[in-house]
Amino acid sequence: MHSLLVIANWKMNPPTAKAARSLAAAVASALRGARGIELVIAPPFPYLDAVRRAAPRAKLAAQDAYPLASGPVTGAVSAAMLKDAAVRYTIVGHSERRRLFQESDGFINAKIRALLAAGITPVLAIGEQAQESQAVVPKAIATQLRAGLAGIAARDIARVVVAYEPVWAISTTPGAKPDTPDNATRRAIYIRKLLVQMIGRKRAEGVRIIYGGSVNAKNAATFIARDIRGMEGMLVGGASLKPDEFRVLVRSVAAIKRRV
Ligand code: PEP
Repeated sequence: MHSLLVIANWKMNPPTAKAARSLAAAVASALRGARGIELVIAPPFPYLDAVRRAAPRAKLAAQDAYPLASGPVTGAVSAAMLKDAAVRYTIVGHSERRRLFQESDGFINAKIRALLAAGITPVLAIGEQAQESQAVVPKAIATQLRAGLAGIAARDIARVVVAYEPVWAISTTPGAKPDTPDNATRRAIYIRKLLVQMIGRKRAEGVRIIYGGSVNAKNAATFIARDIRGMEGMLVGGASLKPDEFRVLVRSVAAIKRRV
C-alpha cells in the first residue's frame, strides 16, 4: 500500500520569507500523529531553502522548471538547479501556467524529460476546463496525459505523479465547485487505464494519481478511495495557506483505513 501524497501548492504566496518559514513549520506540524502521509510543500522559488530548514520532515517541491540545463534564458530555473536545492518534486502542466503562459503539451513534455533526467519526480497536472457529465470522459484528460508523456520511456513514466485537477473545481476559477468523490474516483480509474495502455499494467500500477480542486478540511478524506486504486493523495491550493484547516485536512486523510 502506498502512503498518501499530500502536496501543498502555495502558488505565489506568502509575501515574505519570514511568513514562508512560519507557514512551513505550521503546515508540517500536521504530520504530528499522522501516519502514512508523505507531505510535500511547493513554495515559490525564493523560499525553497527557508522552507527546507523550517520544515525538515516535509519534502520540497518546485512549482515549475525550465527544460534546458543552463544558458541564456532570462528568468528560468533548471531542473539541475532545483535538484541542487534539495527539490524532490516539481509541478508541471498546472492549469494556471497553461492559461497564463500558454504552455503547450510539448513544452510540458520537455520539462518532464528534464526533471526525470535530473532525478526529480514530475507532478503532471491535467484536467478539463468545463464540467461535463459523469458519463462523458473529458477529451482533455487523454490528450494532456498522452502528449505530456509522449516519447518518454515506460520505466520513466512509472516515476511520474499524475494530478487530476478539473479546472472548474479549482478554487480560484470563478464559480468553482468541488468535484464529487465518485467522479474523481472514476477519473482516477480512467487515467490508470490510459497508463496501462501506455506502459503496461505492472508499471501503471506503480504510478500515483492524486486529486486537486477545492479540497478542504471537510471534504478531503472523501476523495481518497478506500477499496480500489482511486485517488491516492491530493494537490492542495488555497487550504494549504491556512495552517489550522490544513492540519485537520492532513489528519482526516491519515485517519482513513484503506484496504488497497
Ligand atoms: C490548485 O490550483 O492546484 C488547487 C488544487 O487549488 P485549490 O485547492 O485552491 O482549488
